[in-house]
Amino acid sequence: MCLFCKIAAGEIPARILYEDDQVVAFHDIAPQAPVHFLVIPKKHIATLNDLDTEDKLLAGHILFTAQRLARELGCESGFRVVMNCNEQGGQTVYHIHMHVLGQRQMHWPPG
Ligand code: ADP
Repeated sequence: MCLFCKIAAGEIPARILYEDDQVVAFHDIAPQAPVHFLVIPKKHIATLNDLDTEDKLLAGHILFTAQRLARELGCESGFRVVMNCNEQGGQTVYHIHMHVLGQRQMHWPPG
């Protein structure tokens, strides 16, 4: 089982923010902003390239969960979502996850 599947299954501890039958959200272990959490599907999908047509609603649910939790964590003045895909995209954990970062000024372009 991959690292994030283990977190979703409760086999590895994480600071869980939200969970339902489809997704889990938890604080990033190495936060890059005062608010930095991840939203993952419970279903194992290795990279964004592996998203299927049948995953469209799930992908929307991940985005909606990110938006709702960002608001709950006080990010009404702005936040950023990031999904890294594959090696050149900077992905290190091969189970898709949406980063949500907030409570500091973001810059562009990202590194
Ligand atoms: P990167 O590691 O370059 O940010 P990813 O987009 O694959 O690449 O992000 C993986 C994220 O998972 C990282 O921000 C990392 O800090 C986080 N992470 C790794 N292990 C854990 C864990 N056990 N609990 C919470 N977050 C974790």
